[in-house]
Amino acid sequence: MYKDFTDAQMIEVRRREQRKAAEIGEYSTMVQLNHPSANVKDPASKAVVDDLERILRAARPKEIHTHNLADKHDTHVGVVLKLVEAIRRLPAVQRPSKLVGCEVRRDLDWMTDKDKVVMTVDGHDNLADALMGVFESQICGGKRYDLAARGRRRANGTSSRATPPTKAKTSSSAWISRR
Ligand SMILES: [Zn+2]
Repeated sequence: MYKDFTDAQMIEVRRREQRKAAEIGEYSTMVQLNHPSANVKDPASKAVVDDLERILRAARPKEIHTHNLADKHDTHVGVVLKLVEAIRRLPAVQRPSKLVGCEVRRDLDWMTDKDKVVMTVDGHDNLADALMGVFESQICGGKRYDLAARGRRRANGTSSRATPPTKAKTSSSAWISRR
């Protein structure tokens, strides 16, 4: 369906999807920075760090959930690095007290349990499905990321030692890496 779209048209599609997700998820704020991946991946480029610093100073978050440093995608690793750089520009008292690098899609068996933070995402299956469904342009290529994500959440939750045994069979908690 999107094979004849230009880059500019695809950008607009992705923008709209993100806005829809923000409405469905009732996010209090959603900011689209519109940086190309090249900027995010380039250690010398400070444009993303500048923007993130501005957002951090305005929003003063206590906790930040972001990508993890072992992410499969270079751009996502770049996002964490820019974010850490932006946080380090803040005076210590203004920094968030917690930064969590999240992994939802991939297996985390390789990581020791003490380095993981398990977050319960049970009980919101309909909302999670609705949010995943919004990203139609990423699903329609035949890859059902929505189903994969749901399965991964369930698999990671089930193998979580931190989940009480009685809940283990039905848990869909996501594994989260601490660093
Ligand atoms: Zn990624």
